[in-house]
Amino acid sequence: MSGGELEGKVAIVTGGASGIGRATVHAMVREGARVVIGDVDEDGARRVVEEAAEQGHPGTVAAVHADVSSWPDVQGLVAQAVDAFGRLDVMFNNAGIPGGFPLLDHDPEKHYHPVMRIDLDGVYHGILAAARQFVAQGGGGVIVNTSSIYGQSAGERAFTYGAAKAGVISFTRSAAMELAEHGIRVVAITPGRARTPILARFSDELNAFMASEQLRGRLTEPEEIAEVVAFLASDRANAINGTVVSVDDGYIAFKNRLP
Ligand code: NAD
Repeated sequence: MSGGELEGKVAIVTGGASGIGRATVHAMVREGARVVIGDVDEDGARRVVEEAAEQGHPGTVAAVHADVSSWPDVQGLVAQAVDAFGRLDVMFNNAGIPGGFPLLDHDPEKHYHPVMRIDLDGVYHGILAAARQFVAQGGGGVIVNTSSIYGQSAGERAFTYGAAKAGVISFTRSAAMELAEHGIRVVAITPGRARTPILARFSDELNAFMASEQLRGRLTEPEEIAEVVAFLASDRANAINGTVVSVDDGYIAFKNRLP
């Protein structure tokens, strides 16, 4: 997009302090939006606010400490965005943590509940709080939810993460159906392997393998995903609703290929 597609709009980006969320904050600001970051990483969020100012957009990004697993925090995040910028037009429910552990070795308190609370409950909280604000404003608005290829296929040691991300796709479809009468669109994205701090924790060998699984043999840059999210949030994507937009550079297609 060339700039100005989100002029006058106010967006929340959860997990906006890093990776895909950070890149999306910058893409949305470049398109004219004002953005509130909701994140538990206060230093990271502050850095993104400063980056936006350095890039010539002072005062367009605000940061709120919000843990998406907490319903009061997410309600507070929406309230503070409205206080700061007057309204809310876009909710990007993107905050997430990885979760991988062999099923038989699971401790539910360590390997199940924390991931579900952030990756699934967090999206539920974001959908509910944003939708209520959109309706209170008279309708309209866009919700984009970050799922994953793990929500679309089985993954080794991804029992909990995959369930959460599949749940995000289900939330997206059902929310789009229930909220359509208020003019609200709801869309999910499924990144494949994106070069963010989540992947930086893995070895070079594993990163190379993950890159090889995408059709062009490369990891996706967070900025490439951000570009799609900014488009989905804009009125140009008005026909896209209740569905999944793949941003996986062909991962799912590659896995399902015929000989
Ligand atoms: P990242 O670690 O760079 O960013 C995640 C952000 O979420 C961080 O800023 C972190 O502080 C924040 N966060 C974590 N827990 C939180 C909480 N409880 N409340 C609020 N904020 C919280 O990772 P990323 O790769 O940019 O991931 C963003 C989203 O994309 C996640 O939902 C992830 O599951 C999904 N995803 C990533 C990939 C990938 O390859 N990187 C692939 C598929 C899906």
